[in-house]
Amino acid sequence: MSKEVLYSSTRGDKGQIRASEAILRGLAPDGGLYVPDHIPHLEKTLREISGLSYQETAYEVMKLLFTDFTEEELKYCISHAYDSKFDTEEIAPLSEADGAFFLELYHGATIAFKDMALSILPYLMTTAAKKNSIKNEIVILTATSGDTGKAALAGFADVPGTRIVVFYPKHGVSPIQEQQMVTQKGDNTCVIAIEGNFDDAQTGVKKIFTDPELAKYMDSKGFQFSSANSINIGRLVPQIAYYVYAYGKLLKEGRIAEGDPINVVVPTGNFGNILAAYYAGKMGVPIAKFVCASNSNKVLFDFFKTGEYDRNREFVLTSSPSMDILISSNLERLIYHIAGDNADVDAEYMKKLGTEGKYEITPAMKEALADFYGGFATEEETFKTIKDLFENSSYLIDTHTAVAASVYNKYKSETGDKTVTVIASTASPFKFTRSVMNALSKGDDSKDDFALADELSAISGVAIPEAVTSIRNAEIRHKTVVEKTEMESAVKAFLGI
Ligand SMILES: *Cc1c(COP(=O)(O)O)cnc(C)c1O
Repeated sequence: MSKEVLYSSTRGDKGQIRASEAILRGLAPDGGLYVPDHIPHLEKTLREISGLSYQETAYEVMKLLFTDFTEEELKYCISHAYDSKFDTEEIAPLSEADGAFFLELYHGATIAFKDMALSILPYLMTTAAKKNSIKNEIVILTATSGDTGKAALAGFADVPGTRIVVFYPKHGVSPIQEQQMVTQKGDNTCVIAIEGNFDDAQTGVKKIFTDPELAKYMDSKGFQFSSANSINIGRLVPQIAYYVYAYGKLLKEGRIAEGDPINVVVPTGNFGNILAAYYAGKMGVPIAKFVCASNSNKVLFDFFKTGEYDRNREFVLTSSPSMDILISSNLERLIYHIAGDNADVDAEYMKKLGTEGKYEITPAMKEALADFYGGFATEEETFKTIKDLFENSSYLIDTHTAVAASVYNKYKSETGDKTVTVIASTASPFKFTRSVMNALSKGDDSKDDFALADELSAISGVAIPEAVTSIRNAEIRHKTVVEKTEMESAVKAFLGI
């Protein structure tokens, strides 16, 4: 047995709490993110791993970082998460196109990569609650600009011991995203539109979360809040598994020899997905380059180039909305690690980020980032990549994945690097149908998104995913619209308290 892994805040003392407690808490009380006190090496050889299923690989990873969970508990969580909700037994298949391997992370319930973590988080959380003798029902509160809300709803729907409330801006999500949410089934789910924008929703949720009086009242009624936010360590660790799995797959198929390095390219927003790749590297997957791909909101590109993180800039709306982010929360974990697991340094930078909107790392820290390469793609480049790949290789990708593929093409021509490369494919093209059709020069403003999906399917020969067909004529179950001042009472009404 390896040594127990303990978690602490990126801004506090090392090794304080167990994994299950960190999962329940989400964010540390000092505002920092939970990080492991050490990152264990995989126990099996890469060759042994290449013979494992996705679920078995996930277990190999999670047992090393969630050390206070028993084997039975982890296997229960894994088998309930990665089941027939996914439309392929492989869970995360690899497809080769134009000289790269696309790791398709969109075969789950909401056809985007957040399913990889949000299908297991509810099980990790309810198991963690049991382990810590928590009798209250867990109430997940989420504000969403579209994708996270639906993935969280799908994950928590009908999971015993949980309720989930999602707030979204009434006029701030796409028609398909809204339809996905308002048709959500499950008696424990609640979807509420607010008259306001995403920031209003987020601010309202934070206010409810941090109200001590309300927490006391909730407790007296048998409830407590928790968060399915992407900074929860219970979302990060399950994401490591697919990088380990992808390496095993390449090895099994003879694309690489055991120990050969690979590169990974990740379309990045909040920095969770690429950080999972970094942890996979620390656990023993030979990864040479971590290519961080941004859209026009290229804070990270500038950061990797100059060592300065500066959010003081215009926020740009792009066709890859899940990457339209100026504060990449999970970067804080990388900052902590490259500072030598130093919480004081991290806390100082994060304070600067809060007050000045920027900070600059030291030359030594910048050197520790040598394995990272930052790139970005404009809207034109993104669209052209979708079109070229489809016309030359008959392979269809969504806008987020296209940002990554475009950056990879630039990286290749700049460096001549021929290392075998895995590109994280984070959403089905049918999730962003209108943009994909525009990229293929087949857009039509007079048609709705479902009609466009029919056409995209006809052009590409790819069947429309069940996630889209099933909501087309589904019953609308959630109709509540509230003012932003009424969010707390709406939650209480749902809970019947
Ligand atoms: C959330 C998301 C991303 C960004 O992932 P991070 O972990 O936040 O960097 C990229 N693509 C899609 C489709 C997403 O939903």
